[in-house]
Amino acid sequence: MSALLWPVTASITAALNATNGTGEHERAMRLMKVTEEAGEAAAAYIGMTGQNPRKGTTHTTADVADELCDVIIAAAVALHAFTTAPPAVLDTKLHAAAQRLNARIHTESE
Ligand SMILES: [Mg+2]
Repeated sequence: MSALLWPVTASITAALNATNGTGEHERAMRLMKVTEEAGEAAAAYIGMTGQNPRKGTTHTTADVADELCDVIIAAAVALHAFTTAPPAVLDTKLHAAAQRLNARIHTESE
C-alpha cells in the first residue's frame, strides 16, 4: 500500500472539513464521491473498449487505472468520515480477506 495514502487523505479530509464542515450532509457527499469516481472508472473502461460506435475508442488502460486511483482516494477520504482510525479499519479488513483466501487455498489443496 502506498505510504502516502493515509497522510494525503488525512490532509484532504482536513481541508474539506475546514471548507465544508463535518455535518451529515457533507459526510453523505463524501460517500457519494466514491460512487461518482466509480462511474468515471466505468466510463473510462467503456471508452477504452470503443463500445460506443459513435464515440469510438476514447480512453486507454492508463485512463482506467487513473480513475481507479480516484476511487481508492475517494474511498479513503470517505472512510475518515466514518471512523477515527481509517488505517486500522482497513488493515483489519485486509487481514480478514487474507485469512479467508488462505483458508480457501488450504481447503482446495486438501
Ligand atoms: Mg475521476
